[in-house]
Amino acid sequence: MNDHPVIIVGAGLAGSLMAIYLAQKGLAVEIFESRPDMRKADISAGRSINLALSDRGILPLKEVGIVHKVLSEGVKMPGRMLHSTDGQLQFAPYGKDDSQYINSISRGGLNQLLMTEAESYEKVRIHFNKKCVKVDFDAISVEVEDYKTKERVIFKGCTIIGGDGANSSVRNALEATYSDHKSTVDWLDHGYKELSMPPSKVGAFALEKNALHIWPRGNYMLIALPNADASFTCTLFFPNKGPISFESLDNPEKVQAFFEEQFADALPHLENLQQEFAENPVGKLGTLKCYPWIKNDAAVLIGDSAHAIVPFYGQGMNASFEDCRILNQCIEKHGVGNWAEAYQTYQRLRKENGDAIGDLAIENYYEMRDHVADPIFRKKRVLEHHLENTYDDYHSKYSLVTFQPQIPYSVARSLGNKQDAFLMDLCRGSEDTASMNVENIYHQLKALKDG
Ligand SMILES: Cc1cc2nc3c(=O)[nH]c(=O)nc-3n(C[C@H](O)[C@H](O)[C@H](O)COP(=O)(O)OP(=O)(O)OC[C@H]3O[C@@H](n4cnc5c(N)ncnc54)[C@H](O)[C@@H]3O)c2cc1C
Repeated sequence: MNDHPVIIVGAGLAGSLMAIYLAQKGLAVEIFESRPDMRKADISAGRSINLALSDRGILPLKEVGIVHKVLSEGVKMPGRMLHSTDGQLQFAPYGKDDSQYINSISRGGLNQLLMTEAESYEKVRIHFNKKCVKVDFDAISVEVEDYKTKERVIFKGCTIIGGDGANSSVRNALEATYSDHKSTVDWLDHGYKELSMPPSKVGAFALEKNALHIWPRGNYMLIALPNADASFTCTLFFPNKGPISFESLDNPEKVQAFFEEQFADALPHLENLQQEFAENPVGKLGTLKCYPWIKNDAAVLIGDSAHAIVPFYGQGMNASFEDCRILNQCIEKHGVGNWAEAYQTYQRLRKENGDAIGDLAIENYYEMRDHVADPIFRKKRVLEHHLENTYDDYHSKYSLVTFQPQIPYSVARSLGNKQDAFLMDLCRGSEDTASMNVENIYHQLKALKDG
């Protein structure tokens, strides 16, 4: 290995975590981040305000020794709270019992903590306001431009890790260097808008604290995740165009009437609805798939730069952290400095799983919107819950994806979809779940798994 540092482009969630893994191996790391230091400047971390952190993301945080710091700031969400139009509530647990939950975490807080941890290693430096504008794979260098002075400087490294998100400059450079590089983005015809739900007058949570709230309404939905300060961050996933869409709700009266009709129990708590609806941007939602993710020993992609996905499984960050864990394992397997072989192994292990979680997230988009309120789907959840509580080796699709990090996403997807199809068929029959022969169902599911 030459004496140059590892270059990471992007001090986001994945880039900062990868820097910690490398620093723990004694490597020098230079990170170039296009934005200012969010610990000093008052900038939003971009996109969502809070994120659901689950077991695949927790495992790497455990490995680098910072999981307790992260989770101490989180709010546990052991299930979904479904809100019907007439205000009825139904709680649906995510896992078999309260020991299985996901965590609502502040995106900005987590990113800041990861940067601070990374910088606590002597050989890690983060250069803020430095946007990567060019990548040279032959020279293994990046050219970065200063946000204020526009001065451009070239930095040489021993290898380059692209952690620069969905619009990655490193991925763009890979596209330019391979004649057969494939990169596609499938945009949804739905976008999203964030709305805030402040704490009540006495500083309490306006809704049940320990739940991910969902108002499923067929073609669209509202969700709310709790924050540690007793507020909720709500996200409206909504068609961009059409008779009921961001485009059609074009004045305050229409917005008010629509929320009164569809989200009546949320409305009294959305204190700044009109202002936020008018001013908050509509975010785009797309699935990015690309290949290759690597260039011999010169570069590798991690996180959203390799596989940006829609947020409906709450797995984008979790998958990005899992990338870091697997890449770290590959580096250990092949030896520090043997980048080309480590990257080959990493790509072989991760590409199909990046695709699988992208597909799972799209599938969950339809499930959350259309099915969670469906009586057959609910019957299936009751049955699954019963199975999960009776048999330790039965895991629902949600559980395979969220709580079983030892099972790759691709396996979770194929097995989970087989199980779902089987159970939905069963529940479509007239039988009540109480009169079903659960042991028999379990054995049939086991045969599906083993077959
Ligand atoms: C609405 C929404 C909700 C979500 N909810 C969840 C959730 O609940 N759970 C979950 O697991 N995931 C969730 N995600 C996905 C998650 O946000 C991403 O998967 C995650 O942020 C990816 O991390 P990253 O480090 O790869 O990219 P980012 O977090 O995007 O970081 C990339 C960094 O690179 C920097 N950068 C970009 N270009 C350059 C350049 N040219 N030069 C230098 N720096 C550059 C950026 O400024 C940024 O700091 C959600 C996403 C959205 C949009």
